[in-house]
Amino acid sequence: MSGDNGGWHPVRGAFYPLDHHPAIISKELFAVVQTEKAKRSNLVETEEGTQRKTTKYNSNNALSGLFICQECGSPYRRINRHTKDGKEIVWRCANRVEHGKEICKHSHTISDEAVKKFV
Ligand SMILES: [Zn+2]
Repeated sequence: MSGDNGGWHPVRGAFYPLDHHPAIISKELFAVVQTEKAKRSNLVETEEGTQRKTTKYNSNNALSGLFICQECGSPYRRINRHTKDGKEIVWRCANRVEHGKEICKHSHTISDEAVKKFV
C-alpha cells in the first residue's frame, strides 16, 4: 500500500459525512437516508392534505449499510459492544465484526452518537 494516510482514500462518488470520519456514505445511501428522514416525520401528503402515517420507523434497518468501510468496502453494522461501564452501541465494518482485524485492519469504530448527529 502506498501513500502515508494509513490506507484511507476518498472514494469516487462518495463523501465524508464528518470531518476526519473514517467511514464514507454513498450518494445512493444518502438518498435513502433523506427518504427515511421524510418518513420519520410521520406525515404524508395526500389529496386531502397532510395526514399522519401509522408506519413505525425503524432506524436500525434504515441505517444498516449507511457507512461503507473504505478498506474492504463492507457496510458498517450496528452492534452492541461490552465495555467496563456496561454496554455501548457502536458501528463497525461488518467484515471486521465477522472476520476480525486480520481481514480489515484499519477500519474505525464509530459511536452511535456520532451516527445520530449525522442522520
Ligand atoms: Zn472493512
